[in-house]
Amino acid sequence: MTAYMDHKDLANEVIDQARAQEIADGVHKVLDGIAQAEAAAGREAGSVKLLAATKTRDVGEIMAAIDAGIHMIGENRPQEVVVKAPGLTRLLAERGIALGVGGDDAVAEAGAGAAATDHIPFHLIGQLQSNKIGKVLPVVNTIESVDSIELAEKIARRATMHGVTVGVLLEVNESGEESKSGCAPSHAIDLAKRIGAMGGLELQGLMTIGAHVNDERVIRAGFAHLRRTRDQILASGAEGTANCKELSMGMTQDMAYAIEEGSTIVRVGTAIFGARAFI
Ligand SMILES: *Cc1c(COP(=O)(O)O)cnc(C)c1O
Repeated sequence: MTAYMDHKDLANEVIDQARAQEIADGVHKVLDGIAQAEAAAGREAGSVKLLAATKTRDVGEIMAAIDAGIHMIGENRPQEVVVKAPGLTRLLAERGIALGVGGDDAVAEAGAGAAATDHIPFHLIGQLQSNKIGKVLPVVNTIESVDSIELAEKIARRATMHGVTVGVLLEVNESGEESKSGCAPSHAIDLAKRIGAMGGLELQGLMTIGAHVNDERVIRAGFAHLRRTRDQILASGAEGTANCKELSMGMTQDMAYAIEEGSTIVRVGTAIFGARAFI
C-alpha cells in the first residue's frame, strides 16, 4: 500500500460544490486547449482524445471530471484501480454509463432507467508488476505501460485464461531518461510485432512520457520519433499490428507539442484537478 493512501480516502464519493466547480473549470480549459492545438496543427476537431490521469484523486473528484465532459480515465497504480472501481462503476451505472470491462453488467443491474448510452474506457498508465496483473484485468480495458516481452506474455497468459482480450500500448522511453520506464526506441518495432502476434492481447498503439527538459525541440523530437515508429509498425503489415494506431503522448506541460506531433490520446492530471498533494 502506498503511503499517501493512508492519508486520503480514495473511495470518498462526496466533494463540495467549490471543488466540483474547480474540476469542471479544469476540464473545460483542457478541452479548449486541445481544440486550439488541433486547429493550430490543421488536425480534425475531435481527433485527440482526453484521458484524465486520476492518480491520487478520489471517486468524488473523478465523478466531477466525468460530469464535466471526461470520457476516458487512467490510473497509475493497481491498488488505486481496486479501491476506486466499485464506487465509480456504481455511480456511473446510475447515469447509464459503463466503466471499463464489466461496466455493462453494472448498468444492467442499475435497471431499465439506466440503459448504457456511453462507455468510459479505463486505462492503466503506470508500471505494472506481474503479481498485480490479476488485480487490474477484471477492470481495465487497456494497459498503456507494456514495455517488455516478459510482461506482455504474462498479461497474455492471464487474459487467455480469463477468455478476454486486453488492449495494450507499447511504452517507449523516447527521452532515454533513466528514471522512466519504457523499452528502448531501437527495440520498439520488433517488440510491437511480437506483442501483436500474441493471443489475448490487442496491440492498440504506442505510449511515451515526454522528455523532462525545457527545450521544445527535444520534447517534440521524441514525440515525432514515436509517430514515425507507429507508422513503420502499421506499414509492416505484420500479424496483429493493423490496430496499432494510438499515440498516447502529451501531459499537462507538453500537450500542445504532442498534439502537433500527432498525439491521439493526451493524458492530463494537473491541468484538470490541480497540483497533486501526494506523489
Ligand atoms: C501523472 C501522469 C500523467 C499526467 O501528468 P500531469 O502532469 O499531472 O498532467 C500522465 N501520464 C502518466 C503516465 C502519469 O503518471
